[in-house]
Amino acid sequence: MKALKIALVGYGRMGQMIHKIAESRGHSIVATIDTPQDSQWESEGLRTADVVIEFTQPEAAASNVKRLLAMGLPVVSGTTGWAKQLADLRQQIEQEQRGTLLWASNFSIGVNLFFKINRLVAGIMDHVSGYKAELSETHHIHKLDAPSGTAITLAEQVLEGMPSRLEGWQLIDDQGASIDDKTLPIRAIREGEIPGTHTLEYRSSVDRIALTHEAYGREGFALGAVVAAEYLSERQGYHTMDDLLAYFLQTQE
Ligand code: NAD
Repeated sequence: MKALKIALVGYGRMGQMIHKIAESRGHSIVATIDTPQDSQWESEGLRTADVVIEFTQPEAAASNVKRLLAMGLPVVSGTTGWAKQLADLRQQIEQEQRGTLLWASNFSIGVNLFFKINRLVAGIMDHVSGYKAELSETHHIHKLDAPSGTAITLAEQVLEGMPSRLEGWQLIDDQGASIDDKTLPIRAIREGEIPGTHTLEYRSSVDRIALTHEAYGREGFALGAVVAAEYLSERQGYHTMDDLLAYFLQTQE
């Protein structure tokens, strides 16, 4: 893999972790920008970067990404919570065939492998009677949104894979409000400093199948973002985690 010049926009918890992982993979960090007024926006380092990784805040992401695309820089963004503006930007990139962007709500390679397994199992379970599906997610007590974006993606995949058994999902409380069989229950638990655990269960009267992804920390997200930067530095257009996963699996061979 070619050593890259990477600029970081957003130098909080994720930005700093990405810095470490990028250097450990032989890349160099040529700019670290942490405010809209940061003088490094005008720096030579940013202008000549091979790729930029953006992890900031929902209110800042759209203008940051637009600014970077206007400079002709490929952008990897992991900032969550700006879905509507992102959809418009994606459409613009695809229509005008100009700009390079990869955005993902979850950069963990493991979570994206879990998504693939989840789709496969749901497709099988649509043809099997007697199993009831349930999703649970556990995160640290600082997390404000529930269910997590990752849980919503998992639920949507289950619904897509089980069209003859399920029609929607619903967040349930600890007491487990009763819901009908056509609804996938999601339990959201907030506990200590847990980085993120997601479990999809299928229970029958005789057994239980459970698929679990448990993140040990932020490293997995940071590694995924750096792998995405490696992937994106030589490409154009809008890319997704499915494209990245195919590349990652290929480079593992
Ligand atoms: P953080 O609060 O630790 O860091 C965000 C940083 O962005 C701060 O240091 C802040 O000063 C900076 N910032 C804010 N506005 C800016 C602007 N206009 N220009 C430049 N910098 C600006 O947050 P974090 O934990 O690093 O997470 C950042 C984002 O990434 C959040 O949206 C979070 O939900 C998301 N996230 C995504 C993934 C994923 O896999 N996609 C994983 C973890 C976190």
